Amino acid sequence: MIPAIRGTHDILPGDVEKWQFVERLARELCERYGYVEIRTPIIEREELFAKGTGESTDIVQKEMYTFTDKGGERVTLRPEATPSMVRSYIEHNLEHTMPAAKLYAMGPMFRYERPQKGRYRQFHQLDIEAFGMQDPAVDAEVIDLAWSLITGLGIPQAELVINSVGCATCRPVFQKALLDALGDNLGNLCGDCQRRSVTNPLRIYDCKVPADQPIIDALPHSIDYLCESCATHFTGVKTHLDAIGIIWRQSHRLVRGLDYYTRTTFEVLGQTLGAQNALLGGGRYDGLVKQLGGADKTGIGFAAGMERLVLALPESAPIAAPGRAFVVAIGEDGRAAAWQLIRELRQAGLPAQMELEARGVRAQMKRADRLATRVTLIVGGDELARGEVTLRDMARGEQRAVARDAVVTAVRELL
Ligand code: AMP
Repeated sequence: MIPAIRGTHDILPGDVEKWQFVERLARELCERYGYVEIRTPIIEREELFAKGTGESTDIVQKEMYTFTDKGGERVTLRPEATPSMVRSYIEHNLEHTMPAAKLYAMGPMFRYERPQKGRYRQFHQLDIEAFGMQDPAVDAEVIDLAWSLITGLGIPQAELVINSVGCATCRPVFQKALLDALGDNLGNLCGDCQRRSVTNPLRIYDCKVPADQPIIDALPHSIDYLCESCATHFTGVKTHLDAIGIIWRQSHRLVRGLDYYTRTTFEVLGQTLGAQNALLGGGRYDGLVKQLGGADKTGIGFAAGMERLVLALPESAPIAAPGRAFVVAIGEDGRAAAWQLIRELRQAGLPAQMELEARGVRAQMKRADRLATRVTLIVGGDELARGEVTLRDMARGEQRAVARDAVVTAVRELL
């Protein structure tokens, strides 16, 4: 036996229906909010993430699946979607053809992390990005879409957390204030924090080491250092959210792990996931398109972890597979007629099966039960002679004879 690689997993029948439910709603909502699908490659140049995701991030420093391909090119299995979306937006001139581009994508991401519940090495994200729009209404619409996904899936007790991390004008002032406030205490923080104080000081707020918390609690907050335009923008976002009745909590500690964020950052936290409680996260990245070689266009988006959405689904989620018909054949004549019948049903667009290997009637009925069949059709010599088929409504446990040429209509009514 050659087992699957650590941190990767198969999604088996029985679970896949939950995935399909999440994917279906995600697509439907994206389309409803005016987002169009884009599909980008899973491998990209290493450089795209080094520049896009950022050299100082844990992702780039420790977690990328990067290798040299047979042509000598350094390639990376994408750890996140945003840099690819930005690359594609620039490469295909979407800034001209889609001035206000609203894009979404779904697919696998790869990070060499320590696997645990809700954290994997291959995982899947729904990613949405809106380019070229600055108004706080855009931030609010993106958050509204994220929140509609959570409520639409019926995930209970989720919480929306927001913050603003400022822009290229005000962030340096805040970073300096942060480092000044740390002062001599820097030496008392953990090694990760000391490293972050050099590479990206805001990330000190991500620290979970208990001994560090009293020091971190005394540090200044980014929202107290926002420049006038960032402050106005953030107030605008909150006003729009209030107007549509979305409840948020502001947290100065929500800085997010990536380097490119500006202004609004947000996350939705779930209650049932333990340590890996972020269902989705995102924010604005107004400098990224330019940084990756494009025009000076703004961007905002979020990524939702599909595994975590599936884990957080309530028991009551409507994930039942669609109804199916199963045809039970009695005798050789019955088998030939059953074969005809499933073809007819399938050509009429209805899901139908039969036991392809000759088995007794009881074994066939058992199988129909196991497949959670909605309608069982029994085809045998006597019924055929009368031009009829026996139709069993499995949900009601009722059985009746149906004329052979009315079967498709009768099944359609039940499925
Ligand atoms: P990020 O791209 O790091 O901002 O993460 C966005 C979302 O993707 C998170 O809120 C999680 O739901 C999900 N996510 C990130 N990393 C992992 C992982 N290793 N395994 C499963 N889900 C993940």
